[in-house]
Amino acid sequence: MNVYDSEAMARVLAAQGYELTPHKKDADCLLLNTCAIRAKAEQKVFSYLGRLVGLKANNPDLIIGVGGCVAQQEAHRLLERVPYVDFVFGPHAINQLPEIVSRAERGGKRVVVTDFTDTFQEITQPLLDRKPQEESGITAFVTIMAGCDNYCTYCVVPHVRGREMSRDSKAILHEVENLAAKGMKEITLLGQNVNSYGNKEGFGSFADLLKQIHGIPGVQRIRFTTSHPKDLSPELIQAFATLPKLCKHIHLPVQSGSNRILKKMNRGYTREDYLEKVRALRAACPEIRLTTDIIAGFPSETEEDFQDTMDLIREADYDSLFAFMYSDRPLAPAAKFPGKLSETVKHQRLARVLEVSEEITRAKHYALVGTVQRVLVEGRSQQNPQQWRGRTTGHVTVNFLAPACGDLVGKQVDVMIENGYSNSLLGALKGEDDQCPQPPTEESHAA
Ligand code: SAH
Ligand code: SF4
Repeated sequence: MNVYDSEAMARVLAAQGYELTPHKKDADCLLLNTCAIRAKAEQKVFSYLGRLVGLKANNPDLIIGVGGCVAQQEAHRLLERVPYVDFVFGPHAINQLPEIVSRAERGGKRVVVTDFTDTFQEITQPLLDRKPQEESGITAFVTIMAGCDNYCTYCVVPHVRGREMSRDSKAILHEVENLAAKGMKEITLLGQNVNSYGNKEGFGSFADLLKQIHGIPGVQRIRFTTSHPKDLSPELIQAFATLPKLCKHIHLPVQSGSNRILKKMNRGYTREDYLEKVRALRAACPEIRLTTDIIAGFPSETEEDFQDTMDLIREADYDSLFAFMYSDRPLAPAAKFPGKLSETVKHQRLARVLEVSEEITRAKHYALVGTVQRVLVEGRSQQNPQQWRGRTTGHVTVNFLAPACGDLVGKQVDVMIENGYSNSLLGALKGEDDQCPQPPTEESHAA
């Protein structure tokens, strides 16, 4: 989501003559897009800002702006704490950047822009004008909603990103059509809770939107993130069975396996509801890859509650998971809940979750050895440029060799899996002669 927002910032400022530079020291204007989801992310912002002091001292004309969720949360406090920051802008102020930056260029007063807007269009209008040359690669993100209305008690998102707002489906379809026409093969739809898309605005359901995107020529794969278990409808579950372009992966954050803790988190489902949906998903689409998020050490979590989470991890049979230590967020109600756990206990519980999750993921990956996986090729492997890199429909990275092939980027190919690791699979192109897009050249042999 932040990558998408950063692209929007670059795009809106391009109209004012700004270009991206990869080197901080060459920049006339530095924008930090920040994350406030956990205390650690927020601390990183301040340590990064600390390292900019020298740049500003060498170049007093340098403009420094801080945007995103830490900006929204800290607002005036940020200007006070970091005297060389010129302006602070929240996630809803992206469209106003040209004005804010012009003002800073003229040496105007330092400003804080953190008002919430009323419609999605006011936040990301510039994204509709994505230009072909700005796109690279074969996969693209498309935001379909902003904000969140769920108010999970640990979470800062509703407080810094505002109320849930869906984007008009016509604008989404228009953007996806444009991206497909420019050669994008895979589209990832983004939102904090994509499966409640359109509920408030009456734009039609998320499953309807998926069907419409499915019909756009050129789109080969569709992904989405994130889904809230309470809003996972039977219609969406069925979409995995009926829409072939919909990738066979769902990230369905459970957070905890204890009903007592789920209630305190205000998640709106029980472990039984959740496991029932998992069963329905697997019945509709047996090959679906299921991933989740877990919070270890929520206030008042007992060893028994934590055991419920460990049991649920095994029962849901996740393919992979992200786990986080509970972290107080000052704007979120849980920051004031009694029964805070020590850092040591939180660390130990996190380590236990990670240990089982690594074991499960390795076993799942290893079980794929000897199978053939369809892979959308994204480029060369970063570690070994002789290998190609792509992803399965389940979103697992596959590195593979195809020594006799020309350029495979953007192609879907069959790869025979030869080894499985905790983060990726290794394989070789199956039936190279049939799948090579063009006859081998001397260069591709040399590569
Ligand atoms: N909208 C998504 C999640 C967005 S935040 C959803 O509801 O699933 C991504 C993840 O960060 C969450 O799933 C949660 O596991 C974690 N997270 C959020 N707030 C946190 C906090 N205060 N401490 C630790 N982890 C947190
Ligand atoms: Fe945060 Fe809950 Fe909204 Fe996800 S659904 S963004 S965890 S409040």
